[in-house]
Amino acid sequence: MVFRWFENLVDPLSDEAPSRPPQTLRAFIWHYAKPFRWIFVGTITTSIIIALIEVFAFERIGTLIDLASQSGTQDFFGEHGGKLVLTLVMLALVWPLMTLLDDLLLLQGVMGNMAMAIRWRGHRYMLRQSSSFFADDFAGRVATKLMQSALGVRETAIKMTNLLVWAGVYFGSALFLFFANDPLLTLPLLLWFGAYLTTIKIFVPRLAKISEIQSEHRSMLTGRIVDAYTNISTVKLFSTGPAEDAYARDGMRTMLGSVYQQMRLATLLSTTIHTINGVMIAGTLGLGIFLWSSGALTIGAVAFAATLALRLQGISHFFLWEIANLFENIGMAQNGMETLAKPLAVQDRSQERLQVQEGAITFDDVTFHYGKDKGIIDDFSLTVQPGEKVGLVGRSGAGKSTLVNLLLRLHDVEKGRILIDGQDIAQVTQDSLRASIGVVTQDTALMHRSIRENIAYGRPEASEEDIIAAAKKAEAWAFIEELEDKKGRRGLDAHVGERGVKLSGGQRQRVALARVILKDAPILIFDEATSALDSEVEAAIQGRLDELMGEKTVIAIAHRLSTIAAMDRLIVLDQGAIVEEGTHSALITHGGLYASLWDRQSGGFIATKEDAA
Ligand code: ATP
Ligand code: MG
Repeated sequence: MVFRWFENLVDPLSDEAPSRPPQTLRAFIWHYAKPFRWIFVGTITTSIIIALIEVFAFERIGTLIDLASQSGTQDFFGEHGGKLVLTLVMLALVWPLMTLLDDLLLLQGVMGNMAMAIRWRGHRYMLRQSSSFFADDFAGRVATKLMQSALGVRETAIKMTNLLVWAGVYFGSALFLFFANDPLLTLPLLLWFGAYLTTIKIFVPRLAKISEIQSEHRSMLTGRIVDAYTNISTVKLFSTGPAEDAYARDGMRTMLGSVYQQMRLATLLSTTIHTINGVMIAGTLGLGIFLWSSGALTIGAVAFAATLALRLQGISHFFLWEIANLFENIGMAQNGMETLAKPLAVQDRSQERLQVQEGAITFDDVTFHYGKDKGIIDDFSLTVQPGEKVGLVGRSGAGKSTLVNLLLRLHDVEKGRILIDGQDIAQVTQDSLRASIGVVTQDTALMHRSIRENIAYGRPEASEEDIIAAAKKAEAWAFIEELEDKKGRRGLDAHVGERGVKLSGGQRQRVALARVILKDAPILIFDEATSALDSEVEAAIQGRLDELMGEKTVIAIAHRLSTIAAMDRLIVLDQGAIVEEGTHSALITHGGLYASLWDRQSGGFIATKEDAA
């Protein structure tokens, strides 16, 4: 009950739209800490109270010793019973209650929730990152950064508030009490404090630096390992075992380098701290006894000063590691920030939604070369009429998939515009754009989820009948019915393995087709959608696809030219530019690139005809 109340103080998984985090560390941390600010105010308050209780407990011990030594054993309770009871209540009741409140706020309120809130907001922001962002990085590395920096940010926020305040109050009040007993007593303490701060100043920035480097090394190493696991079949097929080992060993060696350095610093630091602590305790004890012998201090005060000095040395270790840890976390947060706060390369410029009435597509003078200075697509113009079925043909690397990706706005064009029904796709929301286009991509990777979830991915609310109907139209139902995965889930419930590895290439394509059929968008794009199917299944699907295409605008890409020969118009691309266009028969008659490609696929049949002509 009580736990639940504290756990629910802040909802970590709120629906709030994720925004780009700021790019300075302080603002970055505040960005994530803000929902928890009131809890932090609470824990700061409890930390102060706890520190005060602890320090005054030592002072009480000293005072009670003095009182006990002054009054006789019989009179003590009569004279000082009240003070004793107050101290005992403070220690046995108020102190535990305060720490309970502190823990409830910190452990129940902040710990789990804040880390998860950061991951949730960060992950949703990452999902909005452009394809080029992920093309430029390891997926494993991005994931590690997300997980790590959540901890980094949380720990930084907690330590900056609670730890520093607690230690400050502790030291401040200790100093005050020493001073109240005898100003001279503060001398060892002040000297110690100076030495302690200097130590922190020398060591901590180095520790922080090495932590940041290490955190980078760790993400890099995870990235390399995950990359190998994801591409395990390539690793096996090319028996690159030793090379792969070397790649990982190199990553691990790099990381070890920073681990060694960190551990050396740790040893040096620990020795330094022990030395200055020893000197401080010895100084306080010696000075206290000296002051007592000269009559300036009571024996109770000496006991108080010595025990507190011992306690301070204990704290100083704890505090130092916490500070080192704090800087490690700052390093992690800093390092994560560089990834998590990257601006979105492709952004919604307005909240306008794309309205597709007819489905006309226009590429207007489009230029794009993946951020390089030339090549790929230059000044490309093409208009696809509403309902027109266009086939894109061209050599591998001609830029076909790139054009499709631009139409889907997976990248922003560098020059020119792409219009759908007269609306610039850069001026409408990406969601509305992509909702209007059904795509089967060239490399159909499925999600490691059930077949049902994969098919319904574009229309989660679809009914069971709709899903089955779509699967049937894609000629996928027969094999789906037979499926069973390791955990005994069957049919639509069977899971397909990471990226769909448990299905054959052709089965995967059919699931992808079913997904598009179910989505039923007004514009369709098929990028080698049937390339992995045998001719028989392809022919069977072709009929269904014609029905699906109906009035829709369609762009289909295929190397197997028979797949698209029947389209209204064929566009032949070479090096990002249109070199030929027309119907199949017109292009054959024309005798250019298309004719020669066709020629080769149809086994010279056309060539003889041409030769005859
Ligand atoms: P295929 O028939 O083999 O699928 P394609 O016509 O679809 O070829 P694209 O995938 O559009 O070819 O690639 C066109 C060019 O763009 C290629 O030279 C490729 O190297 C380059 N390219 C593709 N993706 C990227 C990327 N993310 N970053 C940089 N260059 C890229
Ligand atoms: Mg392609």
